[in-house]
Amino acid sequence: MSPKHSFRNIASKRKNPCFDCGALCCRNVAVSLDTPRSKKSWDEIRWLVAHKNVHVFKDLENDWLVEFLTDCDKLDVRGRCKIYKKRPITCREHEPHECIINGAEDYYKIIFRNAEDVEKFLEKKKVKQKKKQRKSNKQKKRKKLLNKKIQNKKKEKTRIRKQIPHF
Ligand code: SF4
Ligand code: SF4
Repeated sequence: MSPKHSFRNIASKRKNPCFDCGALCCRNVAVSLDTPRSKKSWDEIRWLVAHKNVHVFKDLENDWLVEFLTDCDKLDVRGRCKIYKKRPITCREHEPHECIINGAEDYYKIIFRNAEDVEKFLEKKKVKQKKKQRKSNKQKKRKKLLNKKIQNKKKEKTRIRKQIPHF
């Protein structure tokens, strides 16, 4: 390979993020999910990821999505779109220069690849919540004790005042 050729490769790699990517964006389907808040929604997530090649993740903008890892049928063996000129709007709107699927960093904050991931996450969450609850209970107890002390002091002051004879 000539130096000129390898330089051109580096330059094109910089210019086009799709170079050598393997068309990752054409190999999955991601659909929005509601933020899981209830026991039922967590159970649904557990059910989703119990299926092969189905992941659920929270992206960098805190949106929840379910992704199905499956190749688009219009992808050819070289990783090119067979219907490029007629590709759907969703594909046209995917901006390669803003693409994070092929980025150096993760595109998710949390990801569940199987039911065990969800169970582990919920267990950790439970432990955290318990710790938080214990901390808040301690704080409440301390506050209650402090209030009681203040009340007692006030009562003591009034008692002493009452004992002092008035002339
Ligand atoms: S848009 Fe992103 S994921 Fe798709 S081919 Fe280009 S770099 Fe790869
Ligand atoms: S239609 Fe073409 S651009 Fe769109 S996902 Fe399929 S292969 Fe990729």
